[in-house]
Amino acid sequence: MNYSPLSANEVTELTNGLNRMAKNLWWTWNQDAQEVFHTLSPRGWQNLYHNAVAVLHEVSDYELRVRLQEPEFAEKVKSALKQFDDYLNDPQTWGAQHAPFLKKNPVAYFSAEFGLHESLPIAAGGLGVLAGDHTKAASDLGLGFCGISLFYREGYFQQAINHENWQTEYYTRLHPENLSMEPVLNAKGEQLVCNVEIANQVVYFQAWQVNVGRTVIYLIDADRPENDQHHRDLTLRVYGGDSSTRIMQEILLGIGGVRLMRALGITPSVFHMNEGHAAFLSLELMREQIAGGSSMEEALKWTKERCVFTTHTPVEAGHDRFPEDMMHYAFSKFSDLSKIKHKALMKLGRIHPDDSHEPFCMTVLALKTSRAANGVSELHGQVSRDMWKGLYPDKPVEEVPISHITNGIYLKGWMKGPVRKFWKRKIGAEWESEIANPDFWNRMDDPEFITDEEIWAMRYHLRRELIEFARRRLLIQGQRITQSDFIAYDRLLNPDALTIGFARRFATYKRAPLIFERMQEIVSLCKDPSHPVQFIFAGKAHPRDDDGKRFIQKIIHLSLHSELNGNLVFLENYDIHVARMMVSGCDVWLNNPRRPLEASGTSGQKVTCHFGLNLSILDGWWREGYNGENGFAIGDDSHASSVEEQDRVDSENLYNALKNEVIPCFFARDAEGVPRQWVKKIRNAMKTLTAEFGTLRMVEDYGRKMYVPGNPYTSDSDS
Ligand SMILES: *Cc1c(COP(=O)(O)O)cnc(C)c1O
Repeated sequence: MNYSPLSANEVTELTNGLNRMAKNLWWTWNQDAQEVFHTLSPRGWQNLYHNAVAVLHEVSDYELRVRLQEPEFAEKVKSALKQFDDYLNDPQTWGAQHAPFLKKNPVAYFSAEFGLHESLPIAAGGLGVLAGDHTKAASDLGLGFCGISLFYREGYFQQAINHENWQTEYYTRLHPENLSMEPVLNAKGEQLVCNVEIANQVVYFQAWQVNVGRTVIYLIDADRPENDQHHRDLTLRVYGGDSSTRIMQEILLGIGGVRLMRALGITPSVFHMNEGHAAFLSLELMREQIAGGSSMEEALKWTKERCVFTTHTPVEAGHDRFPEDMMHYAFSKFSDLSKIKHKALMKLGRIHPDDSHEPFCMTVLALKTSRAANGVSELHGQVSRDMWKGLYPDKPVEEVPISHITNGIYLKGWMKGPVRKFWKRKIGAEWESEIANPDFWNRMDDPEFITDEEIWAMRYHLRRELIEFARRRLLIQGQRITQSDFIAYDRLLNPDALTIGFARRFATYKRAPLIFERMQEIVSLCKDPSHPVQFIFAGKAHPRDDDGKRFIQKIIHLSLHSELNGNLVFLENYDIHVARMMVSGCDVWLNNPRRPLEASGTSGQKVTCHFGLNLSILDGWWREGYNGENGFAIGDDSHASSVEEQDRVDSENLYNALKNEVIPCFFARDAEGVPRQWVKKIRNAMKTLTAEFGTLRMVEDYGRKMYVPGNPYTSDSDS
């Protein structure tokens, strides 16, 4: 084959294209793009934690230009760039069809955290990952949409376990120039600077923009030379510091976020408060209206028309409450400037406006200043209506205006390489649009389309990848699993064993150690050589949550010093990458929260596309997802009389489900060695859960139920 070298201009075009592509997180859900960066520097890709921008910086410009003369590599680059540009320029989207006016007046989605990729660790857990997945789906759907959050210079903490098996936290600094983000500039090409009033001072901030496909997330950064050090540090860490730090962070997010939109000339038609953290945005909208001559009532009405709110948890601690004196202090200058008197402001955050003992609650503010509100699963909608009925004394509880939209996950972002390749091989180049079509998943029933053997082989492939990943991680974690030699690490975990995963934040209501309540029975289940069972755990406790840290300590202790040694491991430093390895590799995903405290849960939704099954309490999404045949339930809909009783009953139900259903089904192999009943459940799960619990369905629901109805901009006029 003849190949003529690329001209200098062509090479420049490709290097520019690569730099442009690296600065858009689109590459995090496109395998061809990832392979380009991986090919450029395989070790760099691994050591720089799959960060495309950092890999490009590691490779010299000269090397890159020379490498582009490799025909195969140049073809890969061209193909990825073509996909990238086609994606950015596709005019035929759901949004163009169903919500065209959002292009001009977009949804501004405010969230204190966004979990987008392991190279940008600015999320603490599921709430942030959901916000990231929401944004990616909004991009796919072509929705007029942008995100607003804070740029946490030190992100969320990294977890290390000390010799007492106690979690310790350390922080690493993020460098914007090495990440998929760019400074937000003003018309003169300088970094844009805005400000907010906090207490009696003015705090300045700049912003960064993260490109997520066709959407943008703006990150507010208070690290400006004009500010005192303690104000500069406000955007240092995710949920860092105490409640006074928290209130100031929330002022930056809510009030700063609106001011940033104005400075950028963006006029959102919807302000979506993703959790109460962002609710101060409504105070700024009201201030603007009052400054323009409106009365307080008119300002509130105007604001309500533009705001929607999603509540994410029934756990009390998840609802920020600030004492009156703290509010008074934090808003002193803002109150003076805005003519929103302190008393009126406090009333907006109270269920009983005149109860001077009631602290200011962000959820109450959000509910009072939104035209629509929702919980994140059917059961959570119900629980939330009950929780906030005090705000609507003249309505029966069923009519409390909080609906629900069940959470989902962004499928293409979570799907691991081998599964992507599997579908590409099976259905060809159009696989991405195929799997986005809900009808596609009905084909999982068809043994001609996909055989039991293929499914089972995929399961083995993914489990093997997880086990090898775990062995590498455990080796790095140190000589904690066994004192003996290196090779021991390659014997850890059994690629034939039923592999059960549990990974999430170690909030105590999630009850990570529940299964070990019945230690002796679990040991005997795991140690049966004909039915090997093993557990992989991971998760971080909040830095100030000692109870959560004790859970971690207990599990690590058991993994080292009990009869479960060899059948139980704990992987440190849970994050999006560890999550991806675990949800793809495990056969069974264990979820045993104290019902009804798990508003939705999303980690279990990530296992389905990896041919995995859920074993879960009927809480959150699983209460509507479980159909009797697509996985396993722990217990039923009944409620125990006390927390102690609930824990006892649930641990018993968990043990029984494992012993009587999960383990026998997994090991019931036929003459060909395939567990047919198990595979049947996998088929049923993929058919019934994949599309339903995806963010494409979810963001369409937000579009149809929250963003479009009642939107004052639908007529395209500039109201
Ligand atoms: C999906 C995900 C979560 C959410 O897990 P839940 O089980 O729903 O609590 C938390 N953290 C990370 C890193 C995730 O990927």
